[in-house]
Amino acid sequence: MAQILLVEDEINVSSFIKKGLEEEGFHVDVAYDGAMGLSLACSNDYNLVILDVILPQMNGTEVCRRYRESRGYSVPVLMLTALGSTEDIVHGLEIGSDDYLVKPFVFRELVARINVLLRRKGMGYTARSYEYAGLVLNTETKTVNRSGRSISLTTKEFRLLELLISSPHRVFSKTSILENVWDANFDFNTNIVEVYVNYLRNKVDKGFPVKLIHTVIGMGYVLKEEEDENTK
Ligand code: CA
Repeated sequence: MAQILLVEDEINVSSFIKKGLEEEGFHVDVAYDGAMGLSLACSNDYNLVILDVILPQMNGTEVCRRYRESRGYSVPVLMLTALGSTEDIVHGLEIGSDDYLVKPFVFRELVARINVLLRRKGMGYTARSYEYAGLVLNTETKTVNRSGRSISLTTKEFRLLELLISSPHRVFSKTSILENVWDANFDFNTNIVEVYVNYLRNKVDKGFPVKLIHTVIGMGYVLKEEEDENTK
């Protein structure tokens, strides 16, 4: 799943965008000022960066310029600008941003621009389809089926299954599932992972002779065909 960094100081706007993008299946980190944004962008491998222009500490165009200097041009940058600030837009494109969106924007348009940029760059992430043991998950059409039978999943169930099927045989710890499917700031004592794994089992494994979702005791969860003595 694509990892996005959002640099936006207005809390209302950033939480709205983060929530919306997560519902679309993206993983989103947020920075609330330019310096923090630059530091996160340079120290992580994001698939896309969304930069507001007007930011405390360092403005978005300066963040973009330094990010390009330090990390090159492989990761697309989408700038958010205020209405009528043509100079910002031109300057932003000159210093290496790939696209811009004028505030206020319609959320659907943001998602469309993001998908275009991710596809155009083809760097690290393209919408795709995973297949394992007759189970097929398509991240573009958001559909899942097993042996030709269509399975209807909620957003979180879909993201959990996408994580598991992206690396069959790999054991995902509860912590890494929480970080990837929910949020790094989630309460780690929660049993929400167990609850959702059970939801998924009911939809994906119930009625099939071969179970795909396994618990590795004390370790986490894995998607695979074979049983062994450490799993149940
Ligand atoms: Ca701002």
